[in-house]
Amino acid sequence: MATSTCAICATPCPPVFRPPPPELSPDLDRRPGEPTRSTLAQWLLACEGCGAVAPDLSKLPEGRAEIVESEAYLSLAARPPEATPFLRFAMLCRPGDRAGAFLQAAWAADDANDEDAARHYRREAAAHWGEPDGADSALRLVDVLRRAGMFTTAEEVASVVAEGAPDERSQAILAYQRARIAEGDAARHLMSSALRPPARTPHVAQKQADRKGFLSRLLGR
Ligand SMILES: [Zn+2]
Repeated sequence: MATSTCAICATPCPPVFRPPPPELSPDLDRRPGEPTRSTLAQWLLACEGCGAVAPDLSKLPEGRAEIVESEAYLSLAARPPEATPFLRFAMLCRPGDRAGAFLQAAWAADDANDEDAARHYRREAAAHWGEPDGADSALRLVDVLRRAGMFTTAEEVASVVAEGAPDERSQAILAYQRARIAEGDAARHLMSSALRPPARTPHVAQKQADRKGFLSRLLGR
């Protein structure tokens, strides 16, 4: 296999990172579950030659040499620092990949417990989202807006998705999203929570909770 090289400066680049497949549920914005989730910092590679950053340095678009040499690129220092590579990639990538780069910057901010930065990067992601190319993309956008605290816009997009007569799975995610939006809830939620059968599971959990309460009282704890 030929070694691939950086599309900007032709320096041989390290192989593309292949994370382990996820075993747990993704978030509603499709951030993969563990063990994939915690490998985020390894998703982007940096070129030793020119400082370009990308998941695959050999596939960077043409005409980016000036950007990697620019003051804006070189002096970019994100808050938190873990978000810096994603913002650099946002400067270099194709316009269609920009929203994804900002969303990953938000995930890096989530992991650093920097809520302000995470909200800011989600707003940037939403601003670069463009026209969703299907229900899945639109549902992700609803989550990005909700987690950015943009509840009114999130509900507007959700109502447009609802009018498009989405399939049953999308309807379940949509109903779950709209309930969270109505509550003003900007927290992380799992896809598995949205797709859980609505009647049965909470009922069983409630029964177990009641029984536990009864035993606790009985045992004086
Ligand atoms: Zn390079």
